[in-house]
Amino acid sequence: MTRTDAQKEIDRLREQLRRHDHLYYVEARPEISDYEYDQLYRQLQQLEAQFPDLITPDSPTQRVGGAPLKEFHPVHHTVPMLSLEKSDTLEALKKFDADVRKQLPGEAIEYVLEPKVDGVSIGVRYENGQLVLGATRGDGSTGDDITANLKTIKAIPLRLPQPVTLEVRGEAYMPVKEFEQFNATQEKPFPNPRNATAGSLKLLDPRQVAQRPISAVFYALVGWASRLSSAAPASARFVATHAESLAFLKQLGFPIVPHWLCRDMDEVLCRYEQDIVAGGDETKDLRTRVPYELDGIVVKVNSLDQQRRLPPKAKAPGYAIVYKPEHWIKPAETKLNAITIQVGRTGVLTPVAELEPVFVQGSTVSRATLHNEEEIKRKDIRIGDTVIIRKAGMVIPEVVEVVKSKRTGKEKLFKMPNECPACGGPVHRAPEFVAWRCENISCPAQLKRTIQHFAMRSAMDIEGLGEVLVNQLVDNSLVKDVADLYALTVEQVAGLERMAEKSATNVVQAIAASKDRDLWRLLHGLGVLHVGEEAARKLAAHFGSLDKLAAASVEELQQCEDVGPVMAQSIHDFFRNPRNQAVLAKLKQAGLNTVAARPARGSTTGPFSGKTVVVTGTLEKFSRDEAKEALRRAGATVTDSVSKKTDFLVVGTDAGSKLDKAKALGVKTLTEAEFLEKLK
Ligand code: AMP
Ligand code: ZN
Repeated sequence: MTRTDAQKEIDRLREQLRRHDHLYYVEARPEISDYEYDQLYRQLQQLEAQFPDLITPDSPTQRVGGAPLKEFHPVHHTVPMLSLEKSDTLEALKKFDADVRKQLPGEAIEYVLEPKVDGVSIGVRYENGQLVLGATRGDGSTGDDITANLKTIKAIPLRLPQPVTLEVRGEAYMPVKEFEQFNATQEKPFPNPRNATAGSLKLLDPRQVAQRPISAVFYALVGWASRLSSAAPASARFVATHAESLAFLKQLGFPIVPHWLCRDMDEVLCRYEQDIVAGGDETKDLRTRVPYELDGIVVKVNSLDQQRRLPPKAKAPGYAIVYKPEHWIKPAETKLNAITIQVGRTGVLTPVAELEPVFVQGSTVSRATLHNEEEIKRKDIRIGDTVIIRKAGMVIPEVVEVVKSKRTGKEKLFKMPNECPACGGPVHRAPEFVAWRCENISCPAQLKRTIQHFAMRSAMDIEGLGEVLVNQLVDNSLVKDVADLYALTVEQVAGLERMAEKSATNVVQAIAASKDRDLWRLLHGLGVLHVGEEAARKLAAHFGSLDKLAAASVEELQQCEDVGPVMAQSIHDFFRNPRNQAVLAKLKQAGLNTVAARPARGSTTGPFSGKTVVVTGTLEKFSRDEAKEALRRAGATVTDSVSKKTDFLVVGTDAGSKLDKAKALGVKTLTEAEFLEKLK
């Protein structure tokens, strides 16, 4: 055979092999048998052996290259390989659409809906139609040069039918069926197809890679518009939309993702419902129609011009968003080594599974919530079990179920502790609730919230004691329970970061001022389970003092209006808790008002009963607080400022503006002596 004839024959064979590769690997509809294919392949090999100078790098025989590499060279991505913004609700897609429209006001926005392929990202460059470079994503800006490995993948053309220069992006993957067969031959099986693909592409010997059933699928053409190739046919040069770029890739022979062009987000949602999840019928959804695994759907703005005008997010383009249907989430299997207890900010004890670390939906998980004791019983979860994990709402790891077939008999039953692991205090479970709680008011696990609750407007109303300051006070161990607030000095508070002297003074004053608050405020502030503001008001009015309330039996508590058995029990338990008793004693010692402002029912006979009284100036025989308490005991309502409603102003020495005001309004004043006299 002459060299010219050989060249002709070689060209013919290559063309045929390329066509059959495409039919087999891209279109999945082979026209010839494997045997016939092998015949063609061998003929080409023989001719090339006879005329080695006719071998070109894009010949189908050259997919498997030479010697193994020592290492991969780095490749810089001129267009970075980014992440994608995630969402876990369909609502978030609508929000995304609203944001896009806000940024491109008045413009119609078309979208393309396509699957997010759960494979390994790859970028492949062609120059004048020849494959010249293939790379991994790496950190997004620099990846590995895995050209030799990618050339072994028959779904990736070595040469294109047109002499174009461009880069395509897609995913390499192992078809699920092939993965299972391949994995069965492995000494150390891979956990999933994606891992198997990633591991294969990292092999330094392309001959080994060629043995692995790897395929690829593409979803993007990059750097095309900016590098218009004059050699490209006119039709190809006008790629103005994402959908057009996919069509162009297809025309060039690449396997591409299935996709739906939608005129707006409503159509996306409609297509999603019909064509992706098939109305929730899992036997028909898109996953059953593609050979790769799916990691969600991607919605992309179709117009490339609009894409360019949408500002990118931190690590992701601004023109695309991913959504993952909850039922697509693949659960992971692992071992439950122990069950520990976490004490929440509200005192709820939550059992937590300590797991053998496992990769679930994008991150490694080593703990998962077990919710509560009932849940553990219902799912029959035992320590040492093999369990299935998934992420609820894509975020919170959860134990779905136990793999009972993997039980060895050594698993142990779990029992809730009798003590709070954070403070050692008693835990309590109301019969109608599933949660166990620590109701210790000084429990460190709850302290920040306890103090915030204590200080809030509808409780002790301490201005300036907000979340940030509370966190600082607790973190710096300045406050170990709410009573410690009253011992804080301006110096201590001012010593905290970002705390000015002036605001420190204000806070310390506000704390001191709260000592005089009505009893119901203190009651509400203590945060007794089930006792809200209304109940606190009623309890204060009914019992009149903290001491009486604390001493009341469950039956007595229920005599108060609106207090049912559950609340009564909760109040009773709260005041029987020695740790709470200690804090209450400290509060009293700090001088907090512990009696109701209005006289208790049935005791309206005090000398000041029904009267509104204000105290001003310095008294000799009483501190200001003692005077107020005495007044309250005598049936008075004590307020802080003089008004027309004030019946008496008790005046000590150095009285100021209150006295002036009382005189102006004609309010009756009492000297300390007169006050003492009246109290008798
Ligand atoms: P992530 O790394 O989870 O933020 O997702 C971004 C990656 O998803 C990209 O780097 C691609 O490798 C991959 N991906 C899979 N399918 C698509 C698709 N249809 N469009 C864009 N990226 C995709
Ligand atoms: Zn506790």
